Amino acid sequence: MAGIVYVNGQYLRSRDARVHIEDRGYQFADGIYEVCLVIDGRYWDADGHLDRMDRSLRELQISPPMSRTALGAVMAELLTRNRLKNALVYIQITRGVAPRNHPFPAPETPPALVMTARRFDLDASDERARRGVAVITQPDIRWGRVDIKSVSLLPNVLAKQAAFEAGAVEALLVKNGKITEGSSSNAWIVNQSGAIVTHPKGQEILGGITRETAIACARDLQIKIEERPFSVEEAIQAKEAFITAATVLVMPVIAIDGRQIGDGVPGPIAIRLREAYKDRARLA
Ligand code: PMP
Repeated sequence: MAGIVYVNGQYLRSRDARVHIEDRGYQFADGIYEVCLVIDGRYWDADGHLDRMDRSLRELQISPPMSRTALGAVMAELLTRNRLKNALVYIQITRGVAPRNHPFPAPETPPALVMTARRFDLDASDERARRGVAVITQPDIRWGRVDIKSVSLLPNVLAKQAAFEAGAVEALLVKNGKITEGSSSNAWIVNQSGAIVTHPKGQEILGGITRETAIACARDLQIKIEERPFSVEEAIQAKEAFITAATVLVMPVIAIDGRQIGDGVPGPIAIRLREAYKDRARLA
């Protein structure tokens, strides 16, 4: 965690920052979040992330704590105060503080806003991408609106922990025999005919901003895209697999549940898409 954080109007040292015990985020997971990547002081896909944040707020009927311009100013200030050029910025907005009671509090209750920034090591991420990562599968036991980026992440936490305990970096979530997405990423395969396949957007996945940009990159590269569910078996038989998220960019997957994917090394399409994503996101 970087030194300075933003909490409800104040910049504070992380160790001095506090939120109220009756913050509804703490008591009910009644809030949303966003994670944006900053490279060389520039936000990647910032509009996409902030548009999705507005959508998450609208879906949960939480009012935005400040204008987008003001939010941008806080984001910039946080980077300056932490002297960060490459960072992951975390934004969390909850329905605010009120005596614990399930119904929404009075409409004038101000939403609570917390923002943190931590260093992101792009070279380390590139190095990991050169080697590729192993993933496992886990049952998708999440609620029916995972398209909302809510802070209610317990099933994701349990799945990710299972992955770490298995020596893997991500858990692909499986519902009705199909892979929906990763615990904190979108999941993709390259099938035998060279098309990239990923679960369609809808209420069963979080519509990743990196996913959108990767699709645009694939179109530029004239790679065929199939947005449809795919099974675990199809993934294991695939030529390539990869995951996408702001935190991993495009990350080649070389094994699923201990079974090698393709040649067991990062595939050419995943590598090309990672490079194309970096070029495109830099300009966004
Ligand atoms: N799915 C889930 C469940 C996630 O948590 C994330 C990361 N926030 C993603 C997909 C990828 O989203 P993005 O590309 O916007 O980081």
